[in-house]
Amino acid sequence: MKVVKFGGTSLASADQIKKAVEIIQADEQRQAVVLSAPGKRDSQDIKITDLLINTHKAKTAGQNYLPTFTKIRARFVELVELLNVTVDIEAELDYIQEKIEQGTTLDFVESRGEYLNSLVMSQALGAEFIDAAEVVRLTVDGRVDPQSYELINERVTKVTGRFVVPGFYGTGPDGEIKSFSRGGSDITGAIVARGINAEVYENWTDVSGILQADPRIVSEAQPIPEITYTEVRELASCGASVFHEEAIAPVRDAGIPINIKNTNSPTDNGTMIVPKRSTDKQPVVGVSGKKPYRILHAEKFMLNRYPELPGQIKDALSQQNLFAEFDMKGFDTLAMLVNSNNDFDTTAASQYINTNTDVDDCSFGMTVALVGIVGAGLSSQTGLLGRMLSALDQNGIEVHSISYGGSQMTALVTVNLEDYEKTLKVLVAQMQS
Ligand code: ASP
Repeated sequence: MKVVKFGGTSLASADQIKKAVEIIQADEQRQAVVLSAPGKRDSQDIKITDLLINTHKAKTAGQNYLPTFTKIRARFVELVELLNVTVDIEAELDYIQEKIEQGTTLDFVESRGEYLNSLVMSQALGAEFIDAAEVVRLTVDGRVDPQSYELINERVTKVTGRFVVPGFYGTGPDGEIKSFSRGGSDITGAIVARGINAEVYENWTDVSGILQADPRIVSEAQPIPEITYTEVRELASCGASVFHEEAIAPVRDAGIPINIKNTNSPTDNGTMIVPKRSTDKQPVVGVSGKKPYRILHAEKFMLNRYPELPGQIKDALSQQNLFAEFDMKGFDTLAMLVNSNNDFDTTAASQYINTNTDVDDCSFGMTVALVGIVGAGLSSQTGLLGRMLSALDQNGIEVHSISYGGSQMTALVTVNLEDYEKTLKVLVAQMQS
């Protein structure tokens, strides 16, 4: 069996739904279907999930939520007409409206896009509808409760053909509907794949896989044919928004490959996320980055005698609403990348650290961007990292720090903020050469 999960853009319009239905029906093994709520039809449009969230917000603030809810109603009524199914959508919507009126939770309201979409689509596909509330369990902090795998497995033994499970939500420990974080339908797909021990988890979206870099910055970025679960995690940690991070664990533990595919170009291979890969052809898989950061330089004579110092500095930072995301340790010096999304007074911040910790001295340096070069082949191909760094140098990009070895598959470099985009472009060109 294969699990197929379709994201919101793959289900936004009549045309997109037609494509998704064709994809599902083209392969008999595509028996488990997981769906997101309908997404944006064009750039001006609003996702159903966002409309639902706005409805809840308006109700909580004592404002009139009906205009927004009417838009949601119209969209589902249109969907039912379009697919020519017999779901009593008005009754379903009336029930949701009644719950909103009674002040139900945000988790319940925001999850209804997936619920309604799956209810309607299951009829259109002639498939059984399995409510995620029945088979998906979440922990108090919104994570996957592993008992979900058993529940799905048992429930699916009673199904003969295809079935549809709504993404994004399940039941919390209190028995109430609880949703995952945004983009969480990916997690549901992974849970179902693990539960039925699927041959593959196909994740259908609007790009032909995970790209080597953010295509809004590097238009030449190509899809990555094959990448490991760990490399995906590393790319995501360096800033790439590729696939919901929490969706990796359920399938990774069972070694089920994930295939990211494009609904608009179904014959493209997309990206295969696998446990292991050969790094010969493609030593580096991708580059991604985060910005802006301020570098904090701290000095302490005999630093190794003060193991508590990094923690002290981090506490002092967080007391000022500042966060260090990456540390680099020298012998008697420490550097930290401090997330500087909000402009802050660097003199006051360093004075605070000087006064409240055991540092000898500290100060903030320049504003930089952090770029991660990710690939399991970095450690096996001699000279590869050196070539990538010299490509940066040849293009006039100054590298302020390099951190490599903590993870053998990721090199982290910092560059001037203004060089951020150029850095990604040069690195991708080097990967493709
Ligand atoms: N509909 C939810 C969201 O927009 C979940 C998902 O699509 O995965 O975040």
